[in-house]
Amino acid sequence: MKILIINSGSSSIKFQLMEMPSETLICNGLVERIGYKNATISYKANGDNLHQTHTIETHRQGLERVVELLLDPEKGVITHTNDIKVVGHRVVHGGNSFSDTTLITAEVKEKIQEYAALAPLHNPGNLEGILVAEEIFPAAKQVVVFDTTFHQTIPAKAKRYAIPTSLYEVHGIQVYGFHGTSHQFVSEKAIAYLGLKSSKIITIHLGNGCSMTAVLDGKSIDHSLGFTPSNGLIMGSRSGDIDHAIIFHLVNHLNYSLDEVKTLLTNQSGMLGLTGHMDLRDIQAEAENKNKECQLALSMNAYRIKKYIGAYTAAMNGLDAIVFTAGIGENSSVIRQLACEDLEVLGIILDSSKNDKRSAELREINTAESKVKILVIPTNEELEIAKQAFELVE
Ligand code: AMP
Repeated sequence: MKILIINSGSSSIKFQLMEMPSETLICNGLVERIGYKNATISYKANGDNLHQTHTIETHRQGLERVVELLLDPEKGVITHTNDIKVVGHRVVHGGNSFSDTTLITAEVKEKIQEYAALAPLHNPGNLEGILVAEEIFPAAKQVVVFDTTFHQTIPAKAKRYAIPTSLYEVHGIQVYGFHGTSHQFVSEKAIAYLGLKSSKIITIHLGNGCSMTAVLDGKSIDHSLGFTPSNGLIMGSRSGDIDHAIIFHLVNHLNYSLDEVKTLLTNQSGMLGLTGHMDLRDIQAEAENKNKECQLALSMNAYRIKKYIGAYTAAMNGLDAIVFTAGIGENSSVIRQLACEDLEVLGIILDSSKNDKRSAELREINTAESKVKILVIPTNEELEIAKQAFELVE
């Protein structure tokens, strides 16, 4: 069964065509800068890599261009759009309405629209991708996987904020959690690898956005992002945890407007605000050249991760494994090393030489004496969506 996975952002469409249940990748690619003159399409199939620049004004045009490539007599991988039996969509925010992967109906689309108020940067693009895919692939089943679904198991004591109850009951202000497909994918891999019936795992997703999840017996029981993807770890340009009174101070005493505060904390803070760089590779290179700000930013970043490791170990009353994943988690031996430093008290001991080696496979980077396994597991959100979509329609 051919399943097309679409991850449609505000100005991009990431796509992947999979054969299921064999989990064979047929092709994948990315349309970027939709709405700009120099939009780009990259497409990988049959060992070929293609890059094109076009004017792509809308998601519709972007997806139509993707379909032209899929059907191309030379570079294509299907002969008719009906060859695609299922389209699996990633949607960031599903609020409390979805505790499972779901077939898309008019009601589901209304909910996605409703939750756009909570994820204004993500849900509108996600919905646009669904509307266009329904027209282009009328014979396919359309399935949605929400980033928030995996976190529906977080208990009230971890998901509620200590603010008046009516704000939760009437306005849904609570922890929702994000990167759910990634945390689910790597925690399932870790559980299979460890072969444990009962397991206590902390998954650490470090990419452009960063988050950690306490996964007890395969279920999310706490998570570092909250009502929106802003809380918790230090990210590329997001501050993560701060004292909220700083916001009042910025507004009342430093003449910031609320929009300016939002831009400051979302787009100008985090590693960018601390160093002037957003990409961790640049920060690591500067730190090696003795740049003090970059050195401090790296240790602040790792210190925040350590604090959450401690908190989630306490929340689960123990720890079997920690898992590093996503762009930084999979590739930065520096962050992994700093985050695991001086954690012998929790039974976490990193093996530096294993940590320094590179591999695209699941690997263990702890010493033989370490009670806790330290794993690096490449994430694959698209494969997780394909698996869940296949299970639903099978
Ligand atoms: P993601 O959102 O998972 O694609 O992660 C993107 C981020 O991963 C980039 O912004 C980089 O900061 C980081 N990254 C990618 N490759 C490396 C690397 N080799 N070393 C350190 N950081 C990396």
